[in-house]
Amino acid sequence: MVVAKKTLNLDGIPVCPGLTFGVARVVYSWEQTIEERDIEESEVENEIFRFKKAVEDSLTEIRKWRDSAGRRIGGPVARIFESQIMIASDREFLNSVIERIKETRKNAEYVYSMEVEKTISALRISRDQYMRQMAADIEGVSSRIIRRLTGQSVRHIGQAAQDYIYVGKLFTPAEVMSLYERKVKAIITTSGGANSHMALIARSLLIPTVVGVPQADIKIETGDRLIVDGDKGTVIVRPSQQDWNETRKKKARVTARQLLKLDDLPYFPPKTADNIEIDVAANINLPGPVDEVLAERRVGIGLYRTEFIYLQNGKFPSEEKQFNIYDSVARRYYPRPIVIRTFDLGSDKYYKNDHSVKEKNPALGWRGIRAAFDMPAVFKSQLRAILKASSRKNVKILLPMISDIVELKKALRIIKRAMAELSKEKVKFDNDIKIGIMIEVPSAAVTAHELAKRVSFLSIGSNDLAQYTLAADRDNQKLAKIFNPLHPAVLHLIEIAIEAARNNDIPVTVCGEMSGDILTIPLLIGMGVKQLSMNPSKLFGACKLIGRIKYSDTVNIARKVKQMKTLRQIEAFLLEYNMALK
Ligand code: PEP
Ligand code: MG
Repeated sequence: MVVAKKTLNLDGIPVCPGLTFGVARVVYSWEQTIEERDIEESEVENEIFRFKKAVEDSLTEIRKWRDSAGRRIGGPVARIFESQIMIASDREFLNSVIERIKETRKNAEYVYSMEVEKTISALRISRDQYMRQMAADIEGVSSRIIRRLTGQSVRHIGQAAQDYIYVGKLFTPAEVMSLYERKVKAIITTSGGANSHMALIARSLLIPTVVGVPQADIKIETGDRLIVDGDKGTVIVRPSQQDWNETRKKKARVTARQLLKLDDLPYFPPKTADNIEIDVAANINLPGPVDEVLAERRVGIGLYRTEFIYLQNGKFPSEEKQFNIYDSVARRYYPRPIVIRTFDLGSDKYYKNDHSVKEKNPALGWRGIRAAFDMPAVFKSQLRAILKASSRKNVKILLPMISDIVELKKALRIIKRAMAELSKEKVKFDNDIKIGIMIEVPSAAVTAHELAKRVSFLSIGSNDLAQYTLAADRDNQKLAKIFNPLHPAVLHLIEIAIEAARNNDIPVTVCGEMSGDILTIPLLIGMGVKQLSMNPSKLFGACKLIGRIKYSDTVNIARKVKQMKTLRQIEAFLLEYNMALK
């Protein structure tokens, strides 16, 4: 007798709204399954034997499928297995792995995975679609062999099927994009916070997502039916037939228009109840489903995170390709401004194999403007592409992760050189283009008075500013109670930046996640922020709220908060104000 498994109700942190249903596909992490082990000289032979056996067993398995597919489905599918057999049995490659095991005296699965990774990382970023497909095929076959060596499942998102709900410990931003292309219905993770880059990208692609669901990858099994509520942050595992049917009836795929709800706004940009206009803009990561609605409602772009173009393509796009992308965004949003941030790669936003040195603390490492300086050709071609797209005069340049005046001056010199080149080539661009910097590193906030003298605007990145000020990884759910931009220390730095902008008569925007948070918005306005740039899914709630608050009240709020000593006090006070509005 088959016993039906119980229904489970799981809770997590809501990241991207939307109610959806589907079938689970649990993905296990590659990093966790392959450990690096030193082996003794005497173990080498056995290690090679294990490896050869894993290859042979995998080949036997694939051959069996080929024969069965050939009988049941016929030619084309059987040919897929033929090509898998060719990949798995490539003598030259297998011999090179055996040689490496002897040379390095490391365990077979580690050596094999490293050799595979070396081969496919080049293919993965090829311009040729066939080559990229080849990479996915090799990944699929090799994961089978590694599974035999480790006795566990291995992650291979590249081979994933469409329309599943993906469950895993954590997905990288690049993986989220790959899932989006496969029309993933929802994402559930056991870890990660609401401000992680993975969360931001899921939100901008409108993928219903719940993070921080304890043991989701254990409690949910591949094939389970799931109902995911991205608004509430809940997951029903193996729901009753009645719940399943009801959700299916309710759920038509939510469109960007419905989700953003911008059509329900009486006017835009919003004004406070005492008539102060607040400039509200959107953060975009990739031109995507929300663009049409934003452009139509004349919402500008306060932060365009261009690094996702690299992550999507797996390589740096050419100047020409970038120009086409930036130019089409600039045209679409014209006359509203678009703020294009140069690549902020590094930390969790890169392909693992692009780093020759493994960083222990990537968030504190080779990231943003630092990486740009080390890749002068990449930086210059991006600047040239942005400048070329600026001829309508609605493009601004934003520099990420500036930490001091030396870096800023260097970046400005490089921009000047790119402008001089274009002038010489008689290419049209905006000679007065506005250049701004992110204030997201504490040292930049502290020295904002100096930095502000040299730029046209400041943009406060409260996500990183909070992470670095509080020494709390924004992606680490265990630190969620500590990571909070409302901490008095972070607010103090924000205040310095606002004051620096005011003294130098330049605008200041807040573009971190706090700018879309209805608890925080009154405080920021009271502190002197008139520009907010936020995730598109937050626009509706933010604009509605702004219409209900009085600017004069927000000034009092900011004054009171400034006296408070603890995060809890501040949160409680803002919550009380928010409740009183209802
Ligand atoms: C920030 O750090 O607040 C920010 C807006 O940049 P990102 O989230 O892309 O790091
Ligand atoms: Mg940042």
